Amino acid sequence: MPGTTPHTAQPDPRSPYVVDTREFNRRPGSMKRLQETVPAGKDLGTGVLDGVASVAEGADVDLEVRLEAVVEGVLATGSVRAPVTGECVRCLEPLEDVEVEADFQELYFFPGEDTGSDEDAVFLVGDLLDLEPVVHDAVVLALPLSPLCQEDCLGLCSECGAALNEDPEHSHDDVDPRWAALADLKNANRSGTAPAALPAEDQE
Ligand SMILES: [Zn+2]
Ligand SMILES: [Zn+2]
Repeated sequence: MPGTTPHTAQPDPRSPYVVDTREFNRRPGSMKRLQETVPAGKDLGTGVLDGVASVAEGADVDLEVRLEAVVEGVLATGSVRAPVTGECVRCLEPLEDVEVEADFQELYFFPGEDTGSDEDAVFLVGDLLDLEPVVHDAVVLALPLSPLCQEDCLGLCSECGAALNEDPEHSHDDVDPRWAALADLKNANRSGTAPAALPAEDQE
């Protein structure tokens, strides 16, 4: 079975995710800190399904990374923050001011370093390391499966679909059952058949 080793592809030195570690990588204990805002990659913005959160391509991704030279290579430890786009699963409004945050850590081995049986080992290519795969995986794992516009989103009225965040007092409890019966009757007269329930035209 031919192995695929996507992480050893030549990193593009112009990519904002690619870091040149030449100045410090062979001196164990030396360190470099990065704090930067980079554009989200394409694959964080695809596969958007209804109600599923994602990070739009090109959105500002805030990265904080500590790169540390160790005996086997360079250890990257960091955190990432990015804006989430999608739809609230309760009220179906577009998400605003929702962020995804994640921590990550990856050891980039020196080229040719013996990694034992670690098939997922990631390598420096020359002196370059590419943060994009590890950032991508951290963000994708941290994206909410059921995003909410706010913790206590009230969602939609199950009877009429009204947005309850805008009208928390909304209720149907005060409808007199006799009025409902009357509405049924009126509808039955119009269509010739007796509806089982009140028509809910603005629902699916
Ligand atoms: Zn909501
Ligand atoms: Zn309602």
